[in-house]
Amino acid sequence: MSARRRAVVWLAAFAWAAAATAAPGDVTYFKCGRLFDGVSATLAAGIGVVVRDGTILDVGPGLPVPAGATVVDLGAYTVLPGIIDAHTHVALHPGSYEDQILRETPERRAIEATVNARLTLESGITTIRDLGNEGAGLADVALRDAIARGSVPGPRILAAIQPVTATGAYGLVGFQPAAKLPRISYEADGPVEVRRQVRTLVREGADVIKIYMESFEKRQAESDVLSGARTYSDEELDALVDEAHAGGLKVAAHTYSDENGRRAIAAGADSIEHGLYLGEATFRLMADKGVAYVPTLLVYELWRDARIFPTSSPETLRKLKSTVDRHSEAFRAALRTPVKIVMGSDTFELPGTNSQELVAMVRAGMTPLEALRSATSRSADLLGLPGRIGVVRKGAFADLVAVSGDPLADIAAVTRPVVVVKGGTLALDKR
Ligand SMILES: [Zn+2]
Repeated sequence: MSARRRAVVWLAAFAWAAAATAAPGDVTYFKCGRLFDGVSATLAAGIGVVVRDGTILDVGPGLPVPAGATVVDLGAYTVLPGIIDAHTHVALHPGSYEDQILRETPERRAIEATVNARLTLESGITTIRDLGNEGAGLADVALRDAIARGSVPGPRILAAIQPVTATGAYGLVGFQPAAKLPRISYEADGPVEVRRQVRTLVREGADVIKIYMESFEKRQAESDVLSGARTYSDEELDALVDEAHAGGLKVAAHTYSDENGRRAIAAGADSIEHGLYLGEATFRLMADKGVAYVPTLLVYELWRDARIFPTSSPETLRKLKSTVDRHSEAFRAALRTPVKIVMGSDTFELPGTNSQELVAMVRAGMTPLEALRSATSRSADLLGLPGRIGVVRKGAFADLVAVSGDPLADIAAVTRPVVVVKGGTLALDKR
Protein backbone atom coordinates (compact mmCIF):
# COMPACT_ATOMS: atom_id res chain seq x y z
CA MET A 1 0.00 0.00 0.00
CA SER A 2 1.39 3.43 -0.93
CA ALA A 3 1.87 6.06 1.78
CA ARG A 4 -0.86 8.16 0.18
CA ARG A 5 -3.30 5.26 0.08
CA ARG A 6 -2.41 4.42 3.67
CA ALA A 7 -3.08 8.04 4.68
CA VAL A 8 -6.45 7.99 2.92
CA VAL A 9 -7.44 4.77 4.67
CA TRP A 10 -6.31 6.16 8.00
CA LEU A 11 -8.19 9.42 7.47
CA ALA A 12 -11.31 7.51 6.45
CA ALA A 13 -11.08 5.44 9.64
CA PHE A 14 -10.56 8.62 11.69
CA ALA A 15 -13.48 10.41 10.03
CA TRP A 16 -15.69 7.47 10.81
CA ALA A 17 -14.52 7.35 14.42
CA ALA A 18 -15.10 11.10 14.83
CA ALA A 19 -18.60 10.91 13.37
CA ALA A 20 -19.38 7.95 15.57
CA THR A 21 -18.80 9.96 18.70
CA ALA A 22 -22.13 11.87 18.49
CA ALA A 23 -23.48 11.73 22.03
CA PRO A 24 -26.78 10.04 22.83
CA GLY A 25 -29.64 12.50 22.50
CA ASP A 26 -27.83 14.70 19.93
CA VAL A 27 -30.13 15.79 17.13
CA THR A 28 -29.07 16.04 13.48
CA TYR A 29 -31.07 17.77 10.76
CA PHE A 30 -30.52 16.56 7.19
CA LYS A 31 -31.59 19.19 4.66
CA CYS A 32 -32.46 17.30 1.45
CA GLY A 33 -32.58 18.87 -2.03
CA ARG A 34 -34.91 16.19 -3.35
CA LEU A 35 -36.04 13.00 -1.64
CA PHE A 36 -37.03 9.53 -2.83
CA ASP A 37 -38.71 8.06 0.25
CA GLY A 38 -38.41 4.41 -0.85
CA VAL A 39 -42.01 4.15 -2.07
CA SER A 40 -43.38 7.30 -3.76
CA ALA A 41 -43.26 7.62 -7.55
CA THR A 42 -41.95 11.17 -7.51
CA LEU A 43 -39.18 13.04 -5.76
CA ALA A 44 -40.25 15.46 -3.04
CA ALA A 45 -38.51 18.84 -2.77
CA GLY A 46 -37.39 20.81 0.27
CA ILE A 47 -37.61 17.97 2.77
CA GLY A 48 -35.99 18.00 6.19
CA VAL A 49 -35.12 14.81 8.09
CA VAL A 50 -34.69 15.06 11.86
CA VAL A 51 -32.62 12.29 13.46
CA ARG A 52 -31.87 11.36 17.04
CA ASP A 53 -30.05 8.26 18.32
CA GLY A 54 -29.89 6.77 14.83
CA THR A 55 -33.62 6.93 14.18
CA ILE A 56 -35.74 9.31 12.09
CA LEU A 57 -37.83 11.44 14.46
CA ASP A 58 -39.59 13.46 11.80
CA VAL A 59 -39.54 14.00 8.06
CA GLY A 60 -41.40 16.50 5.93
CA PRO A 61 -41.37 19.69 3.88
CA GLY A 62 -40.34 22.91 5.59
CA LEU A 63 -39.57 21.32 8.96
CA PRO A 64 -37.87 23.82 11.26
CA VAL A 65 -34.35 22.99 12.45
CA PRO A 66 -34.67 21.94 16.11
CA ALA A 67 -32.70 24.07 18.59
CA GLY A 68 -29.15 22.80 19.02
CA ALA A 69 -29.34 20.42 16.05
CA THR A 70 -26.32 19.79 13.84
CA VAL A 71 -27.30 20.59 10.23
CA VAL A 72 -26.04 18.40 7.38
CA ASP A 73 -26.73 20.27 4.15
CA LEU A 74 -27.63 17.88 1.33
CA GLY A 75 -29.56 20.60 -0.52
CA ALA A 76 -27.59 20.04 -3.71
CA TYR A 77 -28.42 16.33 -3.87
CA THR A 78 -31.11 13.71 -4.26
CA VAL A 79 -31.47 11.73 -1.04
CA LEU A 80 -32.59 8.09 -0.98
CA PRO A 81 -33.00 5.48 1.74
CA GLY A 82 -29.81 3.46 2.27
CA ILE A 83 -29.66 0.79 -0.43
CA ILE A 84 -30.31 -2.84 0.58
CA ASP A 85 -28.49 -5.69 -1.17
CA ALA A 86 -30.49 -8.87 -0.53
CA HIS A 87 -27.89 -11.29 -1.89
CA THR A 88 -24.20 -10.87 -1.03
CA HIS A 89 -21.20 -12.90 0.14
CA VAL A 90 -19.17 -10.42 2.16
CA ALA A 91 -16.64 -13.05 3.27
CA LEU A 92 -15.40 -13.47 -0.31
CA HIS A 93 -12.94 -10.99 -1.72
CA PRO A 94 -11.43 -10.32 -5.16
CA GLY A 95 -9.18 -13.09 -6.44
CA SER A 96 -9.46 -16.82 -6.96
CA TYR A 97 -12.57 -18.25 -5.32
CA GLU A 98 -10.94 -21.64 -4.83
CA ASP A 99 -7.76 -20.22 -3.33
CA GLN A 100 -9.74 -18.32 -0.72
CA ILE A 101 -11.47 -21.46 0.44
CA LEU A 102 -8.46 -23.79 0.19
CA ARG A 103 -5.56 -21.55 1.24
CA GLU A 104 -6.95 -18.85 3.53
CA THR A 105 -7.97 -19.41 7.13
CA PRO A 106 -11.45 -18.35 8.26
CA GLU A 107 -9.66 -15.79 10.46
CA ARG A 108 -7.89 -14.19 7.47
CA ARG A 109 -11.15 -14.17 5.58
CA ALA A 110 -12.93 -12.48 8.47
CA ILE A 111 -10.38 -9.67 8.22
CA GLU A 112 -10.89 -9.37 4.46
CA ALA A 113 -14.66 -9.37 5.07
CA THR A 114 -14.22 -6.43 7.42
CA VAL A 115 -12.54 -4.48 4.61
CA ASN A 116 -15.34 -5.48 2.19
CA ALA A 117 -17.95 -4.35 4.69
CA ARG A 118 -16.51 -0.83 4.84
CA LEU A 119 -16.27 -0.60 1.02
CA THR A 120 -19.84 -1.86 0.72
CA LEU A 121 -21.15 0.72 3.19
CA GLU A 122 -19.24 3.54 1.48
CA SER A 123 -20.89 2.55 -1.80
CA GLY A 124 -24.30 3.35 -0.29
CA ILE A 125 -25.33 -0.16 0.80
CA THR A 126 -26.50 0.20 4.40
CA THR A 127 -28.02 -3.30 4.80
CA ILE A 128 -27.05 -6.66 3.30
CA ARG A 129 -28.54 -10.11 3.47
CA ASP A 130 -25.44 -12.28 3.28
CA LEU A 131 -26.35 -15.65 1.80
CA GLY A 132 -23.36 -17.76 2.71
CA ASN A 133 -19.82 -17.15 3.91
CA GLU A 134 -18.48 -20.01 1.76
CA GLY A 135 -16.41 -21.75 4.38
CA ALA A 136 -15.38 -18.78 6.51
CA GLY A 137 -16.51 -20.26 9.85
CA LEU A 138 -18.77 -17.79 11.61
CA ALA A 139 -17.15 -14.72 10.03
CA ASP A 140 -20.46 -13.26 8.87
CA VAL A 141 -22.18 -13.37 12.26
CA ALA A 142 -19.03 -12.12 14.01
CA LEU A 143 -18.80 -9.21 11.58
CA ARG A 144 -22.52 -8.52 11.91
CA ASP A 145 -22.19 -8.26 15.68
CA ALA A 146 -19.02 -6.14 15.57
CA ILE A 147 -20.70 -3.72 13.16
CA ALA A 148 -23.86 -3.58 15.28
CA ARG A 149 -21.71 -2.75 18.31
CA GLY A 150 -20.01 0.06 16.40
CA SER A 151 -16.56 -1.55 16.55
CA VAL A 152 -16.05 -1.42 12.77
CA PRO A 153 -17.92 0.35 9.95
CA GLY A 154 -20.18 -1.68 7.70
CA PRO A 155 -23.76 -2.31 6.64
CA ARG A 156 -26.35 -3.98 8.86
CA ILE A 157 -26.00 -7.71 8.15
CA LEU A 158 -28.53 -10.51 8.05
CA ALA A 159 -26.38 -13.63 7.89
CA ALA A 160 -27.10 -17.10 6.52
CA ILE A 161 -23.71 -18.60 7.64
CA GLN A 162 -23.78 -21.52 5.16
CA PRO A 163 -26.48 -23.05 2.99
CA VAL A 164 -28.17 -26.33 3.89
CA THR A 165 -27.64 -28.81 1.06
CA ALA A 166 -28.08 -32.45 0.16
CA THR A 167 -24.85 -34.47 0.30
CA GLY A 168 -22.68 -33.64 -2.69
CA ALA A 169 -24.86 -30.76 -3.83
CA TYR A 170 -22.60 -27.84 -2.99
CA GLY A 171 -18.85 -27.95 -2.51
CA LEU A 172 -15.67 -27.31 -4.46
CA VAL A 173 -15.82 -29.32 -7.67
CA GLY A 174 -13.11 -31.23 -9.53
CA PHE A 175 -11.48 -32.96 -6.54
CA GLN A 176 -11.43 -36.67 -5.88
CA PRO A 177 -14.24 -37.66 -3.51
CA ALA A 178 -11.94 -38.60 -0.60
CA ALA A 179 -10.14 -35.23 -0.63
CA LYS A 180 -10.61 -33.46 2.70
CA LEU A 181 -11.89 -30.01 1.74
CA PRO A 182 -13.20 -27.12 3.83
CA ARG A 183 -16.97 -27.37 3.84
CA ILE A 184 -18.91 -24.55 2.23
CA SER A 185 -22.36 -25.94 3.04
CA TYR A 186 -24.08 -27.85 5.84
CA GLU A 187 -24.90 -31.20 4.28
CA ALA A 188 -28.04 -32.89 5.53
CA ASP A 189 -30.20 -35.67 4.12
CA GLY A 190 -33.67 -36.71 5.17
CA PRO A 191 -36.19 -34.74 7.22
CA VAL A 192 -34.44 -35.49 10.54
CA GLU A 193 -31.03 -34.26 9.42
CA VAL A 194 -32.30 -31.16 7.65
CA ARG A 195 -34.20 -30.17 10.78
CA ARG A 196 -31.03 -30.69 12.84
CA GLN A 197 -28.96 -28.50 10.51
CA VAL A 198 -31.53 -25.73 10.56
CA ARG A 199 -31.56 -25.90 14.38
CA THR A 200 -27.75 -25.75 14.38
CA LEU A 201 -27.87 -22.63 12.22
CA VAL A 202 -30.44 -21.04 14.53
CA ARG A 203 -28.17 -21.76 17.50
CA GLU A 204 -25.16 -20.33 15.66
CA GLY A 205 -27.04 -17.08 15.12
CA ALA A 206 -28.25 -17.27 11.53
CA ASP A 207 -30.81 -14.65 10.50
CA VAL A 208 -31.99 -16.46 7.37
CA ILE A 209 -31.77 -20.01 6.01
CA LYS A 210 -30.36 -20.52 2.53
CA ILE A 211 -30.99 -23.76 0.70
CA TYR A 212 -29.22 -24.98 -2.39
CA MET A 213 -31.60 -26.98 -4.55
CA GLU A 214 -29.49 -27.95 -7.55
CA SER A 215 -26.25 -29.88 -7.77
CA PHE A 216 -23.49 -28.76 -10.10
CA GLU A 217 -21.58 -31.98 -9.52
CA LYS A 218 -24.41 -33.62 -11.39
CA ARG A 219 -24.66 -30.89 -14.03
CA GLN A 220 -26.57 -32.06 -17.05
CA ALA A 221 -23.98 -32.44 -19.76
CA GLU A 222 -26.44 -32.23 -22.60
CA SER A 223 -27.78 -28.82 -21.53
CA ASP A 224 -26.67 -25.73 -23.44
CA VAL A 225 -27.08 -23.58 -20.33
CA LEU A 226 -25.84 -23.77 -16.73
CA SER A 227 -28.08 -26.24 -15.00
CA GLY A 228 -28.02 -28.63 -12.10
CA ALA A 229 -29.70 -31.84 -11.12
CA ARG A 230 -32.52 -31.85 -8.58
CA THR A 231 -31.30 -32.67 -5.08
CA TYR A 232 -33.78 -32.40 -2.22
CA SER A 233 -37.00 -34.40 -2.18
CA ASP A 234 -40.27 -32.60 -1.46
CA GLU A 235 -40.37 -34.30 1.93
CA GLU A 236 -36.95 -32.87 2.85
CA LEU A 237 -37.87 -29.40 1.57
CA ASP A 238 -41.10 -29.36 3.56
CA ALA A 239 -39.25 -30.31 6.76
CA LEU A 240 -36.53 -27.75 6.15
CA VAL A 241 -38.87 -24.82 5.51
CA ASP A 242 -41.13 -25.84 8.39
CA GLU A 243 -38.17 -25.94 10.80
CA ALA A 244 -36.82 -22.58 9.59
CA HIS A 245 -40.19 -20.92 9.98
CA ALA A 246 -40.61 -22.49 13.41
CA GLY A 247 -37.30 -20.84 14.35
CA GLY A 248 -38.58 -17.50 13.05
CA LEU A 249 -36.31 -17.47 10.00
CA LYS A 250 -37.16 -17.01 6.35
CA VAL A 251 -35.89 -19.33 3.63
CA ALA A 252 -33.97 -18.22 0.54
CA ALA A 253 -33.98 -20.94 -2.12
CA HIS A 254 -31.21 -21.07 -4.70
CA THR A 255 -32.89 -22.56 -7.77
CA TYR A 256 -32.36 -22.39 -11.50
CA SER A 257 -35.03 -24.49 -13.22
CA ASP A 258 -38.74 -23.77 -13.41
CA GLU A 259 -39.46 -27.19 -11.93
CA ASN A 260 -37.30 -26.54 -8.87
CA GLY A 261 -38.76 -23.06 -8.53
CA ARG A 262 -42.21 -24.64 -8.33
CA ARG A 263 -41.00 -27.08 -5.68
CA ALA A 264 -39.51 -24.26 -3.60
CA ILE A 265 -42.80 -22.36 -3.78
CA ALA A 266 -44.81 -25.46 -2.80
CA ALA A 267 -42.54 -26.00 0.22
CA GLY A 268 -43.13 -22.41 1.37
CA ALA A 269 -39.78 -20.75 0.60
CA ASP A 270 -39.81 -16.97 1.02
CA SER A 271 -37.60 -16.04 -1.92
CA ILE A 272 -36.15 -17.61 -5.02
CA GLU A 273 -32.56 -16.64 -5.75
CA HIS A 274 -31.37 -16.51 -9.38
CA GLY A 275 -34.38 -18.40 -10.85
CA LEU A 276 -32.62 -18.37 -14.20
CA TYR A 277 -35.24 -20.32 -16.13
CA LEU A 278 -38.51 -19.53 -14.36
CA GLY A 279 -41.54 -19.03 -16.61
CA GLU A 280 -44.23 -16.39 -16.45
CA ALA A 281 -46.80 -18.74 -14.88
CA THR A 282 -44.34 -19.50 -12.07
CA PHE A 283 -43.79 -15.80 -11.41
CA ARG A 284 -47.58 -15.35 -11.22
CA LEU A 285 -47.72 -18.18 -8.69
CA MET A 286 -44.96 -16.49 -6.69
CA ALA A 287 -46.94 -13.23 -6.72
CA ASP A 288 -50.02 -15.11 -5.42
CA LYS A 289 -48.04 -16.80 -2.64
CA GLY A 290 -45.96 -13.73 -1.70
CA VAL A 291 -42.64 -15.33 -2.72
CA ALA A 292 -40.03 -12.74 -3.74
CA TYR A 293 -37.72 -13.03 -6.74
CA VAL A 294 -34.05 -12.05 -6.36
CA PRO A 295 -32.70 -12.37 -9.91
CA THR A 296 -29.00 -11.43 -9.42
CA LEU A 297 -28.49 -10.48 -13.08
CA LEU A 298 -25.07 -8.90 -12.87
CA VAL A 299 -23.04 -11.81 -11.53
CA TYR A 300 -23.86 -13.98 -14.56
CA GLU A 301 -23.03 -11.16 -16.96
CA LEU A 302 -19.66 -10.63 -15.27
CA TRP A 303 -19.03 -14.37 -15.31
CA ARG A 304 -19.92 -14.59 -19.01
CA ASP A 305 -17.50 -11.73 -19.71
CA ALA A 306 -14.74 -13.57 -17.72
CA ARG A 307 -14.49 -10.68 -15.25
CA ILE A 308 -15.00 -13.09 -12.35
CA PHE A 309 -14.09 -16.78 -11.94
CA PRO A 310 -11.15 -16.43 -14.38
CA THR A 311 -10.45 -20.18 -14.34
CA SER A 312 -13.85 -21.13 -15.78
CA SER A 313 -13.63 -23.69 -18.59
CA PRO A 314 -14.35 -22.67 -22.21
CA GLU A 315 -17.34 -25.02 -22.02
CA THR A 316 -18.77 -23.12 -19.02
CA LEU A 317 -18.16 -19.76 -20.69
CA ARG A 318 -19.92 -20.98 -23.83
CA LYS A 319 -22.92 -22.10 -21.79
CA LEU A 320 -22.97 -18.77 -19.95
CA LYS A 321 -23.78 -16.88 -23.14
CA SER A 322 -27.10 -18.72 -23.53
CA THR A 323 -27.58 -18.75 -19.75
CA VAL A 324 -27.52 -14.94 -19.61
CA ASP A 325 -29.94 -14.70 -22.57
CA ARG A 326 -32.37 -17.11 -20.94
CA HIS A 327 -31.99 -15.32 -17.59
CA SER A 328 -32.92 -11.94 -19.16
CA GLU A 329 -35.91 -13.62 -20.78
CA ALA A 330 -37.02 -14.87 -17.36
CA PHE A 331 -36.49 -11.40 -15.88
CA ARG A 332 -38.65 -9.82 -18.59
CA ALA A 333 -41.34 -12.46 -17.91
CA ALA A 334 -41.21 -11.52 -14.22
CA LEU A 335 -41.70 -7.84 -15.15
CA ARG A 336 -44.99 -8.76 -16.85
CA THR A 337 -46.31 -10.13 -13.54
CA PRO A 338 -46.90 -8.61 -10.09
CA VAL A 339 -44.13 -10.75 -8.49
CA LYS A 340 -42.07 -8.79 -5.97
CA ILE A 341 -38.60 -8.38 -7.45
CA VAL A 342 -35.84 -7.63 -4.93
CA MET A 343 -32.33 -6.42 -5.72
CA GLY A 344 -29.42 -8.74 -4.93
CA SER A 345 -26.01 -8.30 -6.53
CA ASP A 346 -24.14 -11.53 -5.72
CA THR A 347 -21.06 -9.73 -7.12
CA PHE A 348 -18.78 -10.71 -4.29
CA GLU A 349 -15.56 -10.40 -6.24
CA LEU A 350 -16.05 -6.69 -6.84
CA PRO A 351 -16.78 -5.20 -3.40
CA GLY A 352 -18.36 -1.76 -3.45
CA THR A 353 -20.00 -2.26 -6.85
CA ASN A 354 -23.24 -3.81 -5.56
CA SER A 355 -25.42 -1.00 -6.95
CA GLN A 356 -24.40 -1.91 -10.49
CA GLU A 357 -27.14 -4.56 -10.17
CA LEU A 358 -29.69 -1.72 -10.32
CA VAL A 359 -28.17 -0.58 -13.60
CA ALA A 360 -28.33 -4.15 -14.94
CA MET A 361 -32.00 -4.44 -13.94
CA VAL A 362 -32.90 -1.22 -15.74
CA ARG A 363 -30.87 -2.31 -18.78
CA ALA A 364 -32.94 -5.51 -18.79
CA GLY A 365 -36.23 -3.58 -18.89
CA MET A 366 -37.18 -2.48 -15.36
CA THR A 367 -38.04 1.18 -14.75
CA PRO A 368 -35.62 3.10 -12.51
CA LEU A 369 -38.47 3.66 -10.01
CA GLU A 370 -39.17 -0.06 -9.71
CA ALA A 371 -35.45 -0.81 -9.46
CA LEU A 372 -35.13 1.67 -6.60
CA ARG A 373 -38.15 0.18 -4.80
CA SER A 374 -36.63 -3.28 -5.27
CA ALA A 375 -33.52 -2.13 -3.41
CA THR A 376 -35.32 -0.24 -0.67
CA SER A 377 -38.89 -0.66 0.66
CA ARG A 378 -39.60 -3.93 -1.15
CA SER A 379 -36.36 -5.47 0.03
CA ALA A 380 -37.18 -4.39 3.59
CA ASP A 381 -40.35 -6.49 3.40
CA LEU A 382 -38.38 -9.58 2.36
CA LEU A 383 -35.81 -9.00 5.10
CA GLY A 384 -38.58 -8.73 7.69
CA LEU A 385 -37.76 -5.09 8.53
CA PRO A 386 -40.57 -3.09 6.89
CA GLY A 387 -40.69 0.51 8.06
CA ARG A 388 -37.27 0.17 9.73
CA ILE A 389 -35.04 0.11 6.63
CA GLY A 390 -35.58 1.00 2.98
CA VAL A 391 -37.75 4.03 3.71
CA VAL A 392 -37.21 7.61 4.81
CA ARG A 393 -40.03 7.77 7.28
CA LYS A 394 -40.62 8.48 10.96
CA GLY A 395 -39.41 5.52 13.04
CA ALA A 396 -37.00 4.16 10.43
CA PHE A 397 -33.25 3.88 10.95
CA ALA A 398 -31.60 7.04 9.60
CA ASP A 399 -29.94 5.30 6.66
CA LEU A 400 -29.56 7.81 3.83
CA VAL A 401 -27.65 8.07 0.57
CA ALA A 402 -27.16 11.39 -1.25
CA VAL A 403 -26.36 11.35 -4.97
CA SER A 404 -25.95 13.98 -7.67
CA GLY A 405 -28.62 14.08 -10.38
CA ASP A 406 -31.94 12.28 -10.62
CA PRO A 407 -31.78 8.48 -10.24
CA LEU A 408 -35.37 8.22 -11.54
CA ALA A 409 -34.04 9.48 -14.87
CA ASP A 410 -30.54 7.97 -14.71
CA ILE A 411 -30.27 4.98 -12.38
CA ALA A 412 -26.46 4.98 -12.58
CA ALA A 413 -26.54 8.00 -10.24
CA VAL A 414 -26.92 5.55 -7.33
CA THR A 415 -23.52 4.02 -8.10
CA ARG A 416 -21.80 7.33 -7.27
CA PRO A 417 -22.88 8.31 -3.75
CA VAL A 418 -21.64 11.63 -2.40
CA VAL A 419 -22.81 11.10 1.18
CA VAL A 420 -23.73 7.89 2.99
CA VAL A 421 -25.39 7.94 6.41
CA LYS A 422 -26.04 4.84 8.48
CA GLY A 423 -28.01 5.11 11.70
CA GLY A 424 -27.57 8.90 11.60
CA THR A 425 -23.77 8.66 11.34
CA LEU A 426 -21.82 9.85 8.30
CA ALA A 427 -20.09 6.85 6.75
CA LEU A 428 -18.97 8.74 3.62
CA ASP A 429 -18.83 12.46 2.97
CA LYS A 430 -17.44 13.63 -0.37
CA ARG A 431 -19.22 16.99 -0.45
ZN1 LIG B 1 -24.86 -16.09 -4.12
